[in-house]
Amino acid sequence: MLFLLYRGIGQTRGIQMVTRRAKAIALAALLLLAHGCSQDQSSEEPARDIVQIAGDLYRAQDGAHFTVYLVTPDGIILADPLNADFADWLRTELESRHGVPVRYVLYSHHHWDHAAGARIFDATATLIGHKNFPIALAEGIAGFPVQVTITDTNGDGGLDRSEAIGDAAAAFDELDTNNDDFVTGAEILADVLAPEVLYSDHMTVNLGGKTVELIHPGPSHSIDTTVLLFPEERTIYGVDFLNVKRLALGFPGTGTLDEWIASLRQVEALDFDIVSPGHSSVGTKADFTAYREFFEDLRETVNGAMTSGTSLEDLLASDALAEYDDLPNYVPQRDRNIEDAYNLLVSAPD
Ligand SMILES: [Zn+2]
Repeated sequence: MLFLLYRGIGQTRGIQMVTRRAKAIALAALLLLAHGCSQDQSSEEPARDIVQIAGDLYRAQDGAHFTVYLVTPDGIILADPLNADFADWLRTELESRHGVPVRYVLYSHHHWDHAAGARIFDATATLIGHKNFPIALAEGIAGFPVQVTITDTNGDGGLDRSEAIGDAAAAFDELDTNNDDFVTGAEILADVLAPEVLYSDHMTVNLGGKTVELIHPGPSHSIDTTVLLFPEERTIYGVDFLNVKRLALGFPGTGTLDEWIASLRQVEALDFDIVSPGHSSVGTKADFTAYREFFEDLRETVNGAMTSGTSLEDLLASDALAEYDDLPNYVPQRDRNIEDAYNLLVSAPD
């Protein structure tokens, strides 16, 4: 089922953000020169790269964030734009490498660090997202977005500098468009355009003889999650709730633990060989199965602790889930996942 929507949130502000970013980069370059060209990682552009996954499907990187795109004779189907600065770089790369315009932008979800910057492709592309995308976007603007890196811990309705971590800390000044040292939901989501076409459970996009399936696996990381299936390339793309070879950064956004696992099982039932997540490594279907099994082990572990009256503190201090300690982000994510699961199950209705 399709819905047509309007767009146009914060376009002028988005352009200002690019200008501010360009100024910040120029200033950082000057400072680097003034300090004798020392290696200051914080002032460098994020690592950017494009690699071929399978057939005409490619993976593009912006630091810790990844997207994918499929090249067809009639244009390109792009997943998340990530941000305007990256999208501008990507558009130039796509023109020189493939010589066809982006015809579709397929959003994984509305979060600012994946969905911003689609205006770069807006002149040629149709933007598509789940029907809950504009609802989640409006809620994030009116209230505050639910994301691990931008938690409003003191509950004052925005992000203080001390509350921002990771990429949100790095982008704090860029996001703080009115320079009041306080970032609102409206500022964070200013450069996220709402989709022009919405779908509910499943949608197929065809272009130039190629196909992409959009699947909504239910509530998990967000209420508007979309997983992309590229049937011919036997690859899936999903963001934040979908990982391989590492633990989830934090969970869940909106669903219960059971819903999160049900979403993973729904994705696992799709016909694919390759997993291309929004963060970290590419993996196989077996890697994805192992990722889902972690959540089931986590649920069993936490359920068992609660049944036996083990406190959260004692559970954290135990060797529970130690069999996953070879994963690169086991510390600190094992503890965070246990805490999230424990708190969720404590608050879950019977
Ligand atoms: Zn997210």
